Amino acid sequence: VDNEGNVTFKRLPITQLVEALQLGIQYTVGGLQAKAARDVLYKDFITVEIIHFPNDFTIRSYAPVAFRHFRELFNIKPEEFLNSICKPLRELRNPGASGSLFYLTSDDEFILKTVQKKEAEFLKSLLPGYYMNVTQNPRTLLPKYFGLYCYQVTEFMSRKHEGSVGENKNIRVIVMNNLIPSQVHMHEKYDLKGSTYKRRASSQERQKESPTWKDLDFIERHPDGFLLDVDTYNAVVKTVQRDCRVLESFRIMDYSFLIGVHHVDPAVTAEGGAGERASDPSTVQPPKRMMYSTPMDTINAEFEEHNKPDDHLVETGGIPARTASGQRLLLYVGIIDILQSYRIRKQFEHAFKSVFADGATISVTNPSFYSERFQSFLFNTVFKKAPREAGATKKFRT
Ligand code: ATP
Ligand code: CA
Ligand code: CA
Repeated sequence: VDNEGNVTFKRLPITQLVEALQLGIQYTVGGLQAKAARDVLYKDFITVEIIHFPNDFTIRSYAPVAFRHFRELFNIKPEEFLNSICKPLRELRNPGASGSLFYLTSDDEFILKTVQKKEAEFLKSLLPGYYMNVTQNPRTLLPKYFGLYCYQVTEFMSRKHEGSVGENKNIRVIVMNNLIPSQVHMHEKYDLKGSTYKRRASSQERQKESPTWKDLDFIERHPDGFLLDVDTYNAVVKTVQRDCRVLESFRIMDYSFLIGVHHVDPAVTAEGGAGERASDPSTVQPPKRMMYSTPMDTINAEFEEHNKPDDHLVETGGIPARTASGQRLLLYVGIIDILQSYRIRKQFEHAFKSVFADGATISVTNPSFYSERFQSFLFNTVFKKAPREAGATKKFRT
C-alpha cells in the first residue's frame, strides 16, 4: 500500500495494472479474429506481439496464435474469452509465499496470476512440448494456460534502462483455468506435495476463515484419507500418473495437488457445521463452457448411481468421496504451480538442505523422486479404494 492508500504491486497501482491487461488482451485477442485460422507453426510459439499504448504502457502478448489454439482445443470462443477477462475481476487471497497476485474472472472460468520472470521464461520454453501433450490428451489435471502477457510502463522503455530498472517494472501474467468453483462452499482446502518437511499451514494461515492446509495437516485431519469408488480411484490414478510423466519429462518439481473439499452434509463436519448458505438461484453460475474442465470430466469418470450429487451440484463435476466415518464429500482437484524447473537452482539447494534433514523428507530433491513421492502420497495416503457398497447399483457395460 502506497502513501496515498492505493494498493500497489511493484509500486504500480493494481487497478491500473488490471485495466492495462484487460485493454491489452482485448487488443491482441480481438486482433486475431481478423486473421484467418490456420495450423500452428513452430514460429507461433516464439512470436511476441508488442502493443504500445502511447505514453502509458506496453503489453507484450506471447505466442498469441499458439494460445488461440489452446483455447480452441477447450472450446473457448474469442468473444467468450474477452467477455470473461474484460468484466471486473475478483482478487483472491494468495496463501503462497511468492507474493503473486491472483484474480478470478466473474464467470468463474479463469484465473490471472502474476509470475516471476524465470517462470514466464520457463513457460515460453515449455510451450511446444506442452502443446503436444495437451493436444494428445486434453483430459489432464495439469494447469491449462490460455495466455501469457507482460505489462511494461512506457517511461522505462528507453534503451538505457533496459535490463536494469526496466526489467524490474515488467509484470508478467498468465491466464489459466480455475479449479475451485465459487458457488460451491469449500469446507476445507489442501495444497499437497507428498513431502512432510515443513508441510504444515503456518499459524497465520490457520487464523484465516478458510485456510489452505498442507500435507501434515491432511494426515492429522484425515488419517484414513478419502474413500473413492474403485472406478473413480482408478481414473484418478491413471490421470495423475500420466500427468506426472509429463512433468517429469520437463524436469518440473515443486508442484502441488490442490483439493477443495465440499461436505455434502455440512451439519456433521468436524467444525460443527456452520450451516450451508442457502443457494440463491440468482447467484448460481451458468454451467462451465470450457471443455474437460470439471474434475469428473478431467479424470474421465462417471457418477455411480449411489453417489450422484444433487442436481445443483452435478454440473460442477466434483469427485464424490467419503470420509472413513461415512461423510459424503465432493472434491475439486488439480495440479498447480508447475513453472518451477529443476535446472534453475535446485541442485545447490538440495546439497545444502540435505545436511540438515533426511534426504527422503525434503521437498527439494529431483524430478523423478519428487513425482514418485507425490504419487505415492496421493494413491496411498490421500485417496483409498472404498469397499463396494452392498446396495450400490452396478454399472453394466455392453
Ligand atoms: P508458492 O510459490 O509460494 O507456493 P504461488 O504464489 O506460486 O505460491 P500457487 O502455489 O500457484 O501460488 O497457488 C497458491 C494458492 O492459490 C493455492 O494453494 C490455491 O489455493 C490457489 N490456486 C492456485 N491456482 C489455482 C487454480 N488454478 N484454481 C483455483 N485456485 C488456485
Ligand atoms: Ca505452490
Ligand atoms: Ca510458485
